[in-house]
Amino acid sequence: MRDNNTVRASFMPTAVKCFMALQGDGLQVHQDAGAVTAGGNAAHEVCEIIVKTGERPENLTPFALSHGCDLGHLGRATWYALEFWRAHGHLFPNASTEQELSRTLGANPAWTLTGHADVLSLINAEEGAVLDWKAGYRTEVDVVDQVRTYALLAGLTYGLDRVSATVVWLLDQTYQRWEWTMGELISWALNVFDEWASWPAGRYETGDHCHYCPRRFTCPAQQAMVKATIDSLAEFDSGGEIVPAALAAVYPAVQNVERLCQTYRDLVRQAVVDAGGRIPIDGETELTLSESSRDTIDPSAGWSAMLAAVGDPDTLAQAMRVSKTDLLQLVADAAPRGQKGKAKDELMADLRDAGAVTTTKVTSLRVVRTAKK
Ligand code: SF4
Repeated sequence: MRDNNTVRASFMPTAVKCFMALQGDGLQVHQDAGAVTAGGNAAHEVCEIIVKTGERPENLTPFALSHGCDLGHLGRATWYALEFWRAHGHLFPNASTEQELSRTLGANPAWTLTGHADVLSLINAEEGAVLDWKAGYRTEVDVVDQVRTYALLAGLTYGLDRVSATVVWLLDQTYQRWEWTMGELISWALNVFDEWASWPAGRYETGDHCHYCPRRFTCPAQQAMVKATIDSLAEFDSGGEIVPAALAAVYPAVQNVERLCQTYRDLVRQAVVDAGGRIPIDGETELTLSESSRDTIDPSAGWSAMLAAVGDPDTLAQAMRVSKTDLLQLVADAAPRGQKGKAKDELMADLRDAGAVTTTKVTSLRVVRTAKK
């Protein structure tokens, strides 16, 4: 994240919102723990191959195994990467991947910005383009300052006049695009440095960006929020009068505490692994990793045995469920270019006509902007 006055591009969305994120030596929480990041690393490796070859490797299993991530997640994420690259790859000529960039700017103090764009394209002597693959779902945290930093670094390194930046959200299957002149990029960076230089001591700006801050366990603003949230929950009287507005008001803070708990679980899990599988808690208990196993049946390999056991295919089908995402991915892979969407729509229409599709509504709590009346 930061070494003296060096800031990585991936940390800029947090640092721009809260300069205090760059201060202090508290517990450093790395973002590299957890299955999502393992999936992200695997997806980036596959995306790099897509950019270099125009094709996705046929067998993704070795990538999933080497990163310890879910094969289905990897398949879904990289399927859209391939679709995106087939449709838009021509906008990124002379593309290089994972190129490390670094420049020092400003004065009193000077700041060194570093980072590597997933894709860097030199379109011609004046124009460039950077692209960042995001392997998770689109978040509320603004990513523009990360890719703006890549654009700035690319422009300074290659003497460009204009640079565009694209963020591809692999699981949402959407993308965002921006374009700036070098004047706009340099002016943005110098304004950020000015704001950092005049940042009042003790001003903490909390928000969704705190999730990516290495200080989130030690920052006074976060600690105060956590304490206030726990106090609110402790005072919550489920037997008393329910005031909906009061319940809803605490929800964003509870989400924040849940995220901290998840980060804590990732940290402690890694600590147990590093300690060889167990950490004593007191004289009588210890923390360990408990294993459980879950069987998955391959219908192709097991078809004969299952049919012999249950008697007929209709009965056997009652025990089967088909993953819509995986099925549509197979259909898209098999369909010719330009026909993939149509092939998927036709199959879904046929399946609905055949009464093969059951739709279940799932509800979940979400904080959204109030609709304007
Ligand atoms: S946790 Fe949030 S408020 Fe605290 S220093 Fe980090 S970004 Fe700032």
